[in-house]
Amino acid sequence: MAAKKRPSIVYWLDENLYLNITNKCSNNCYFCIRNFCEGVGGFSLKLEKEPAVSEIIAELENAINRRNWREIVFCGFGEPLMRLDCVLEVSRWIRRHYGKIVTLRVDTNGQALILNEGREVVEELKMAGIDKVSVSLNAHDKETYNQICKPTLEKAFESVIEFIRKAKRLLDVEITAVRIPEVDIEKVEEIARKIGVKFRVREYIQPFW
Ligand code: SF4
Repeated sequence: MAAKKRPSIVYWLDENLYLNITNKCSNNCYFCIRNFCEGVGGFSLKLEKEPAVSEIIAELENAINRRNWREIVFCGFGEPLMRLDCVLEVSRWIRRHYGKIVTLRVDTNGQALILNEGREVVEELKMAGIDKVSVSLNAHDKETYNQICKPTLEKAFESVIEFIRKAKRLLDVEITAVRIPEVDIEKVEEIARKIGVKFRVREYIQPFW
């Protein structure tokens, strides 16, 4: 039997370096890749435990000089902003040691405001050196969002919209949606246009059974 692959905290695809800092998420999207894959690009992303900031930085130190990365992205098999302080600390470390040479992005489900009540999430991300957020809105209305993303928190959809509006004031923001039958892609694009942020469609990677 083949040995199980060690889970990766840091992994890379093309020109970007990615940080897989948690497997927890406040959604249960039926199309979530972690439901039917162990990882991506030959890396295993199923963590055995949440890595400490020191472990993330140690892995990062081994990978950051492999090439000139275009972006370093907080994106793995979970919602990075469930660990806001970890994202802030690692971002500050990158900025302290590598300055502005690389763009820092967070790929998020956009629920940071309800996940971190009482915090100035957008301002804190900006201060720590985050440049961009890519928000998986994934639905054109609350009903569809609840049906396909199955959020565990109340008012999740409204909170995502509020986060997008707030983030737009300080960060480069894009909204994304997965192309699945339940979602009216044109209406999601319309939401992006009205708020004044970019929009990108993500193709659904079908499970193979
Ligand atoms: S928000 Fe992202 S990580 Fe969370 S369940 Fe949905 S697709 Fe998966």
